[in-house]
Amino acid sequence: MKKLLKKIDVHAHVILFQEYEFSKTFVVTPEMLLGIYDEIGVDKGVLLPITSPEAHAGLVLPNGATRAVVEKYPDRFYWFCNVDPRSLDNTDHTDFTALLDHFKRLGAKGMGELTANLYVDDPKMDNMFSYMAAAGLPVTIHIAPEPDGYYGVVDDLGLPRLEKMLRKHPDLKIFGHSQPFWAEIDAGLTRANRNDYPTGKVTEGRLGKLMREYPNLYCDMSAGSCYNAMTRDPEYAYRFIEEFGDRMMYAIDVCHPENRQIRNMVRWLDESYEKGYISEKNYRGICRENAIRILGLDAPKEVWK
Ligand SMILES: [Zn+2]
Repeated sequence: MKKLLKKIDVHAHVILFQEYEFSKTFVVTPEMLLGIYDEIGVDKGVLLPITSPEAHAGLVLPNGATRAVVEKYPDRFYWFCNVDPRSLDNTDHTDFTALLDHFKRLGAKGMGELTANLYVDDPKMDNMFSYMAAAGLPVTIHIAPEPDGYYGVVDDLGLPRLEKMLRKHPDLKIFGHSQPFWAEIDAGLTRANRNDYPTGKVTEGRLGKLMREYPNLYCDMSAGSCYNAMTRDPEYAYRFIEEFGDRMMYAIDVCHPENRQIRNMVRWLDESYEKGYISEKNYRGICRENAIRILGLDAPKEVWK
């Protein structure tokens, strides 16, 4: 029997006061999340505030409140700050230096989840990316397929606008997430199914090509979108992990205790490692070591289940 590692979750959302929330999507409190973590073997999580209004009934934990949760559970949580590209002055030349420095002083390890419904190469987005690169803060982005009707930064089929930003900001680490990001694992996706969970054998798509060409692109493995991309064609997934495993990070994206991704990815990773489909180096990297290295976390490299 191989020893299994506890995980670090790089994509977590919590709310503080369930009783006052209109949203039925985001209902997990820090205490509920820690209960889920204890059950599935996650020892630490990175809390991501959501501060853009698109498709949400309210802010999903503002920056200050997120920092306060970390203060309450310093052994369990880290945090990202979240800055909407339109905040402060709503221009394409807003200076974000002081704001990002403020959050860095408070221990923010990155920025996100970025959900503003602007094109990923919008001048305001582009401007903010420059300041985040200068601050050394990585960003987690939720990619949306269209402007209007969605939350998330918008890109077209094939992610050409993301590629433009990856090329223009080589010092900015971008963590990709959501259905239109992971559907690009396969060359056969279409405009119609890119925000969905396409199934079937994979022919290398834009995702593999972008990962190979841009060392500043990383994979956030949260939600059903990554789980679907990995399990639709495990043979391809294991090759993808073999090549890019040092830039992939375990994550869950729990919003609700009924979310199906809570147990799926942890089980798939552990079983794939136990059966020898994932190397020990990549298993260790995906479970913990990549997050520790990339985000500069003070977490121990090994915590066994
Ligand atoms: Zn999320």
